[in-house]
Amino acid sequence: MNRRPGHTAWCAADHRCNLAEHRSDDIVISLPGHGRAVLTRVRGADGREYGEIRARIVLDADEYGARVQLRTALTDLRGLLSRAGQLTRRQSA
Ligand SMILES: [Zn+2]
Repeated sequence: MNRRPGHTAWCAADHRCNLAEHRSDDIVISLPGHGRAVLTRVRGADGREYGEIRARIVLDADEYGARVQLRTALTDLRGLLSRAGQLTRRQSA
């Protein structure tokens, strides 16, 4: 892949890469009728890299059902962050 000088190998090197950040192309997971998530690799101005996740979840029209869905999402996000963090510590040990 031919990248512009000064960018990382994975950087999209386009309008998304600015403000001293490098951003990859988005990786999209779409589950029609359920939701969509986008994962982007980012290198911040301080040189630290992270994965940025944005997601939309189709919520139930019923308020109670929607709250259960949101609670489930928060619980699973906590588990995801915990598992991903453990991988980082193992790799750097
Ligand atoms: Zn860049």
